[in-house]
Amino acid sequence: MNDFNIEILERETKVILPEKLVFGKIYADHMFEVDYDEDLGGWHNPTIRKFGNIELSPAAMVLHYGQTIFEGLKAYKQVDGRIALFRPEKNVERLNRSAKRMCIPEIDPDLVLQAMLELVRIDKDWIPTKPGHALYIRPVMFASEPLLGVRTSENFKLIIMLSPVGPYYPEGFKPVPILATNKYVRAVRKGIGEAKTAGNYAASLMGQQEAKNEGYSQVLWLDGIEQKYLEEVGAMNIFVQFKNEVTTPMLTGSILPGITRMSVLQILKDWKYNVTERMISIDEVINAYKKGELIEIFGTGTAAVISSVSKLKFNENLLQFNDKEAGELGTKLYNELSAIYYGEIEDRHNWMTYID
Ligand SMILES: *Cc1c(COP(=O)(O)O)cnc(C)c1O
Repeated sequence: MNDFNIEILERETKVILPEKLVFGKIYADHMFEVDYDEDLGGWHNPTIRKFGNIELSPAAMVLHYGQTIFEGLKAYKQVDGRIALFRPEKNVERLNRSAKRMCIPEIDPDLVLQAMLELVRIDKDWIPTKPGHALYIRPVMFASEPLLGVRTSENFKLIIMLSPVGPYYPEGFKPVPILATNKYVRAVRKGIGEAKTAGNYAASLMGQQEAKNEGYSQVLWLDGIEQKYLEEVGAMNIFVQFKNEVTTPMLTGSILPGITRMSVLQILKDWKYNVTERMISIDEVINAYKKGELIEIFGTGTAAVISSVSKLKFNENLLQFNDKEAGELGTKLYNELSAIYYGEIEDRHNWMTYID
């Protein structure tokens, strides 16, 4: 293990975190960095060093053609003081799947996992300890070769940075309004929707901004072909609870396979719900609502964990849920996952990876 260079910065003062943490705005002292060059043996010279700006040519291919991927996961300070990461091996697996799709050379999963653990260990004073807080871990991997021609890059860089974060909804676990759109698409089947890559976000910005202007907090994305089937909500996966079924869109290639999604599916099975993964059309959702057979809708993802939906608008249809309180199942799942993250209940599936 630990066959990387470590340049530890000596802090003169203790880490003092601001009262209010804006998501992703401040960074811990160190970052991990490793470069790719086939002539130098592939991924080489892994180093942990002081967090700071990097040198990059203005011709770096990532800036022009978007050959870049990322990941996101969290480290938690648990109730007994131990530090644990939620399913980090799944993020590393997905990093390599995204890499493959984007023609970025895969990397030794063990190196990335060890780098994350070592980085969190070094910067453990940056883990906020208040309820709902965590240290967000953000790996990013991108084309660094300077070239204006279009082809896959021959050089890449992987950086892992850390950012202390508070709960996604600082006022408490409140439901949010969402807007389904058929004006734009985020991703199409056979495209890059299932890779965690910048292009999908770029495609989503306009719809997201227009939804915000109309007073909605997220866009509910429909499939890119028929504009009919639910795909994702913002940068979260979506779950729909009907009278006799809890369901989530099946992974058709244009949907990001969320690790929270995967975990929620498992918990629902543990709880003996009738859970399915299938195509869910917006018409089915609207019809079920009209018949009183739609119970609740929620999103799942690392940042917010669970995001309950207060209302859903699609063209002239307005589906209203409880706008004061989050739905029952979403709340139950939020509490269960939080209890696992913070070590308040038994980690029955061995999802947590401990430091030391
Ligand atoms: C990261 C991401 C998710 C959620 O994945 P988690 O692993 O649960 O955090 C969902 N949709 C998109 C588009 C994402 O980028």
